Amino acid sequence: MNGLMMQQPLLISSLLVHAERHHGDQEVVSRRVEGDIHRCTYRELAARSRRMAKALATLGVQPGQRVATLAWNGYRHMELYYAVSGSGAVLHTLNPRLHPDHVVYIADHAEDQVLFFDMTFLPLIEAIAPRVKTIKTFVAMTDRAHMPKDSKVANLLCFEDLVDANDDRFEWPVFDENQASSLCYTSGTTGNPKGVLYSHRSTVLHTFGIALPDALNCSSRDTILPVVPMFHVNAWGLPYAACMMGSKLVFPGPGLDGKSLYELFEAERVTMSAGVPTVWQGLLAYVEANGLKFSTMRRTVIGGSACPPAMMKTFEEGYDVQVLHAWGMTEMSPVGTAAVLKGKHAGLSREQRLAVQATQGRVVYGVDMKIVGANGEELPWDGKVSGELLVRGPWIISSYFKGEGGDPLVPDARGRGWFPTGDVATIDADGYMHITDRSKDVIKSGGEWIGSIDLENIAMAHPSVAMAACIAARHAKWDERPLLIVVKKPGAELTREELLAFFEGRIAKWWTPDDVVFVDAIPLGATGKMLKNRLREQYGDRLLAAG
Ligand code: AMP
Repeated sequence: MNGLMMQQPLLISSLLVHAERHHGDQEVVSRRVEGDIHRCTYRELAARSRRMAKALATLGVQPGQRVATLAWNGYRHMELYYAVSGSGAVLHTLNPRLHPDHVVYIADHAEDQVLFFDMTFLPLIEAIAPRVKTIKTFVAMTDRAHMPKDSKVANLLCFEDLVDANDDRFEWPVFDENQASSLCYTSGTTGNPKGVLYSHRSTVLHTFGIALPDALNCSSRDTILPVVPMFHVNAWGLPYAACMMGSKLVFPGPGLDGKSLYELFEAERVTMSAGVPTVWQGLLAYVEANGLKFSTMRRTVIGGSACPPAMMKTFEEGYDVQVLHAWGMTEMSPVGTAAVLKGKHAGLSREQRLAVQATQGRVVYGVDMKIVGANGEELPWDGKVSGELLVRGPWIISSYFKGEGGDPLVPDARGRGWFPTGDVATIDADGYMHITDRSKDVIKSGGEWIGSIDLENIAMAHPSVAMAACIAARHAKWDERPLLIVVKKPGAELTREELLAFFEGRIAKWWTPDDVVFVDAIPLGATGKMLKNRLREQYGDRLLAAG
């Protein structure tokens, strides 16, 4: 017997309708590429999104077609999030940090029809415009006064002209919630990038999930500043969650250096932020150097790569900011777990508590996870045994766009598909998952695994270390041994011997790295993660001569 409840499709447009109706005067503040600060309300943003939805129709965009963006976090980008997906087309957020060849490949693969871009990326647009096969129209996300005078790009339109040319009398269409809403390509450290195609249903369910108190805990009382880019997995879903909750939103635009971020945090009284660890390094360095404090920021979500416990401690002890460590993947919309404490942790010492918060955390309801051994056998949740991490759930990929790479899922005994994350992890009895490595980054020394993240975290706790990467270097006797690549803090004195001595007592002796290489910078990928494959290419043979 079926239940007798309404069938209402879960559509992204409903989030904006809700924000407009219930939080119409809530603010959205953006630092613009033009350099100034722009303010609007959800009411204004919703009306402009409807006008843009009408404009898309005049550009000939059909439901299901891909509309691309190359843009920073800002209100115009947010308007496109709703205008494109809400009208039934697919928002394709391109990553401007990729090599132009990759951008062309991805735009062609996605068969993008229109490309909206921030003026920062005009040189990139001029370079790719003659090469892309399907993009017919380019739109500069600015007003008439800031349009380029003699651009080489044919068919160049102006965002504000499109908004001005349409009124806001537009009803969001109602369609199947399983229709595609947005598209994001994976970072692709090896091989060609692959597209992850989200649906309205997956996006709305993910939004419910991340907004929960034991997840990212978003509320109408929050002022959220997503540092994580809107071109990287939809800024972890925050532009949707903010509408669902009616939170004030603050967009940093291109100003991602410590000073610009800090000024915006203070001026707009930001309470919550989110980003990858490398961003917070810049911010912490700035506040430390200038003896500053955060007057309203109390929480920040850190994920995308492991947050060093030393950074969590500095945030908490030095600045009264709680770090919420979260884990996920592009293929997971992206949030899978968050390291939120349980009631039973209330009596823990600060050190014990930080140890729980340093794990990648517990699953958000909706996500199911397990760890498996080499033969696919499920491993115990004892916090010790590590295995490959598999996930399933309604906001997790079932197949890549256009079937690229074949069927990614691994069936279990009941024939249900699980997505192999490529991460190696332990899970403890309380369900806290702890990533020890990416499977391709694991160091296999004499057949035993050494977790590179643990070694990086120890190095990062040294006061003279700004950034550390640990890689598997080939070794004549042990096959592989850990090699530490380190960037020192400006002006710091640190020798190889001092740093290696710092590992004593903090880790099993045989895990101690064999050598340290001091470098000026560690290469970062398009989403701010350390490019360990590049380091392996460069330094992978360094220990061979040592024997
Ligand atoms: P991406 O799809 O580019 O966001 O990359 C996803 C991968 O980033 C995951 O499979 C992990 O290897 C890594 N990652 C994300 N969050 C964390 C975290 N909190 N700790 C460690 N690794 C993480």
